[in-house]
Amino acid sequence: MAQNVYQFIDVKRIDPPKRSLTERTIEFVEIYQPLSATQAAGQADRCLDCGNPYCEWKCPVHNYIPQWLKLANEGRIVEAAELSHKTNSLPEVCGRVCPQDRLCEGACTLNEGFGAVTIGSIEKYITDKAFEMGWRPDLSAVVKTDRKVAVVGAGPAGLACADVLVRNGVTPVVFDRYPEIGGLLTFGIPPFKLEKDVLKLRRQIFSEMGIEFRLNTTVGVDVSFDSLLEEYDAVFLALGTYTPMKGGLVNEEAPGVYEALPFLIGNVNNLMGWQTEHPFVSMADKTVVVLGGGDTAMDCVRTSIRQGAAKVSCAYRRDEANMPGSRKEVQNAREEGVEFLFNLQPLGIELNDAGQVCGVRVVTTELGAPDAKGRRSPQPVPGSEQVLPADAVIIAFGFQPSPPKWLIDQGVALDSKGRVLASEQSPYALQTNQQKIFAGGDMVLGSDLVVTAIAQGRKAAEGILDYLQV
Ligand code: FAD
Ligand code: SF4
Repeated sequence: MAQNVYQFIDVKRIDPPKRSLTERTIEFVEIYQPLSATQAAGQADRCLDCGNPYCEWKCPVHNYIPQWLKLANEGRIVEAAELSHKTNSLPEVCGRVCPQDRLCEGACTLNEGFGAVTIGSIEKYITDKAFEMGWRPDLSAVVKTDRKVAVVGAGPAGLACADVLVRNGVTPVVFDRYPEIGGLLTFGIPPFKLEKDVLKLRRQIFSEMGIEFRLNTTVGVDVSFDSLLEEYDAVFLALGTYTPMKGGLVNEEAPGVYEALPFLIGNVNNLMGWQTEHPFVSMADKTVVVLGGGDTAMDCVRTSIRQGAAKVSCAYRRDEANMPGSRKEVQNAREEGVEFLFNLQPLGIELNDAGQVCGVRVVTTELGAPDAKGRRSPQPVPGSEQVLPADAVIIAFGFQPSPPKWLIDQGVALDSKGRVLASEQSPYALQTNQQKIFAGGDMVLGSDLVVTAIAQGRKAAEGILDYLQV
């Protein structure tokens, strides 16, 4: 690709500039500013085109990364966008929220000593720029069939499935209980990582492509699952995972203790003027302790900072190296003023005489022997208990599957953790044990990533197309 094969030495990796800390700590806007056209072209030119693109293999949707980097370097933005949409239904979202250090960029040959190509930022640049230039997916050659598929859940898995179906002439009708599309992209991930207008534009584009959305519609309440099975040729389930994991802490249900996702959703509703069942909770002037070390915990600490909390700490039971959250987001949280307290296991919530939260009792941990998955389990150190002062505590221990009763009544097989059993190798990819019912995303994988949900949605669409013999 590059005329000068040592381009990657001459041109250093640059990440997109971040907004000032003054803006970042009060505003709910994306902290990364766009790359300029010159920066995007220059950074794309750092790709070695190494012949065996590990980046592509590590990317769960197997994007044609070196090819669209070359197009971006040559300023052929529309062609780059066309190519990136061949493998990814939401490239502008993945460019923003994928943990690239663990995926494509982590596998980049230049990562060893030179700084990986900024693949995620360029993916975002290509799609945003193409949309800005008026580019839209061209479906004029698609031959429409009379087949229609109900998609339950407008998160990344459901949207990706609908995208592939409509591009193959099948009409997808997407049901979601919320007033906007996106699932956790809209009602979970905060706007400082992903602004809500990104999904609004996507909804417009998907609607123009022929995807029908029925929002504010809960399957099992407003419309029965049986009626979907009767009316549609197949059903794709992408309901996500929404049962919060409990810590078994003393006083876990006390006033002043909040679950992470309702807190984040309440904040987005307040910003956007939307209505869901989750009320707005403000952390203004409070001393906040967030328990957990994943992406959700990072989103809670950074939301609390922007709401004007007096002090925000994140207590995690392992060390920093063993945190599951994205390194980039931990760094961003630190810059914004979050204090990290490692090797502390919460035991209980302390209450004052009025029954209000006044602290979190924790014990120091040491990491013991690795478990079956190779993760070292934290062991409490006797006599090391202490109380962290707090007047609000947010619990971010992750999520478990939440299969609804109607799904169980249909006889859809689940594993011991409540995940739907559907394999990419089934006779038809991601078909459940009930032939008309397919499933994917977090409800099959367990809580995972946006890009793996997209990969499953797209795979399920292929399975459905094979099943319908389209
Ligand atoms: P979801 O996105 O959960 O979508 C499921 C949809 O189904 C929802 O819209 C829900 O309303 C709808 N639904 C459920 N039941 C019904 C029903 N009965 N009727 C109608 N609709 C229904 N991943 C990353 O890659 N990067 C990140 O930075 C990141 N940050 C995260 C931050 C938070 C706070 C959380 C919670 C998760 C984060 N994730 C992140 C994980 C990622 O968001 C999920 O893995 C992904 O959204 C899963 O997609 P999905 O389509 O399977 O489910
Ligand atoms: Fe990297 Fe995610 Fe884009 Fe794949 S989808 S290239 S993993 S940012």
